[in-house]
Amino acid sequence: MFDALSLSALPPEDEALRPALRTLIAGAIADLPLHRRARSWQGFDAAFSRKLGQAGYLGLSLPKEYGGIGRGPFTRFVVVEELLSAGAPVAGHWIADRQSGPLILHYGTEEQRRFYLPRISRGEALFCIGMSEPGSGSDLASVRSRADLQKDGSWLLNGQKIWTTNAMHSDYMIALVRTSGTNEDRQSGLSQVIVDLTLPGITIRPIVDLTGDAHFAEVFFDDVRLTPDALIGEEGQGWRQVTAELAFERSGPERIYSSVVLIDAWVRHLDAAGRKDSATLRLVGTLTAQLAVLREMSLAVTARLVEGESPVVEASLMKDIGTGFEQAVPQLIGDDLASNPDEPVDAELYRTLLYVTHIAPSFSLRGGTREILRGIIARGLGLR
Ligand SMILES: Cc1cc2nc3c(=O)[nH]c(=O)nc-3n(C[C@H](O)[C@H](O)[C@H](O)COP(=O)(O)OP(=O)(O)OC[C@H]3O[C@@H](n4cnc5c(N)ncnc54)[C@H](O)[C@@H]3O)c2cc1C
Repeated sequence: MFDALSLSALPPEDEALRPALRTLIAGAIADLPLHRRARSWQGFDAAFSRKLGQAGYLGLSLPKEYGGIGRGPFTRFVVVEELLSAGAPVAGHWIADRQSGPLILHYGTEEQRRFYLPRISRGEALFCIGMSEPGSGSDLASVRSRADLQKDGSWLLNGQKIWTTNAMHSDYMIALVRTSGTNEDRQSGLSQVIVDLTLPGITIRPIVDLTGDAHFAEVFFDDVRLTPDALIGEEGQGWRQVTAELAFERSGPERIYSSVVLIDAWVRHLDAAGRKDSATLRLVGTLTAQLAVLREMSLAVTARLVEGESPVVEASLMKDIGTGFEQAVPQLIGDDLASNPDEPVDAELYRTLLYVTHIAPSFSLRGGTREILRGIIARGLGLR
């Protein structure tokens, strides 16, 4: 399987984006304490997202004719890497930029592209993903929310979604719903619809997580009337579309940098403490080497996306190994600090460690659980 991943370098024109982007990010997050930077994925700041859009760092892989930047996955790799490694708040534009935009580009009507894509590129249309439901998280084919076609061409939506990241801050949800048949039909009869979250009949209730933050929500649809143009792609093809969409979600550098603000802070702490014994150096070296290899793998998957392929199995492998690394980091750093009890530690480093330790279990859940990914990998290897 590793034959599918060849070494690949970032084009110089994408590398060249870094200095200006770093300046913009540094200016925007100068006042953010470390534990807030560690929340990068969860950090919601609509003004910052709009600023990125205005500066031309969103819609990077969307064509210029739809208001995008017309570059591609390598450019996006550089931008995402800079944002996450600095701990910038990405949650505002994250889902629209990574998933909803490409989905609308591939499957949307011309009208939908012209309406949504320019606003996504400006950071002005914020999206959330309505896939999970109570009782159908990993088993997406069992979704029960239902949009019934009405005589006048509109859709009547009823049901419930759960774990919807930032539903309460978003303008739109792309929801996977049943549009025909029964729940026993599994993959067939599912469709994707764009739901304007201001419509009557929608109730959004934030859910508080283990860290004390409320970054996701449950969403209830009670006789919500959607206009005929809410359907995205083909009726009954939702399963195929969702599977392709998940390949965008699983492959990027976002699957290796969730704990990187903590690593940086810990290395600065080691420096300040003057700790240079061989066990410490071995741990720093191990984490750096693992991160470097994961980055190369992520780049190799990005290169396949640049070729227009959909490397679903490789992206799953990347996410499984990458999130394993991200989860190991708080454990290793926590053990290291505990093993040196006489060393003074800045309170902010403890706060950051506490946050990353609490949020780390979610790294291998969000975007598809570890067990599901391993099933996909096994199938890709012909083992199932
Ligand atoms: C931080 C975070 C953000 C999220 N954001 C969103 C979002 O924006 N939109 C959205 O739709 N969802 C979102 N989710 C939901 C997430 O995708 C689901 O939690 C996930 O798909 C698992 O579903 P579940 O929680 O219902 O667990 P279940 O599906 O009940 O699974 C429970 C356990 O059983 C295992 N399991 C289930 N089926 C199998 C199988 N066939 N073989 C082997 N093992 C199996 C799972 O791997 C898991 O370990 C988010 C989750 C998190 C943690």
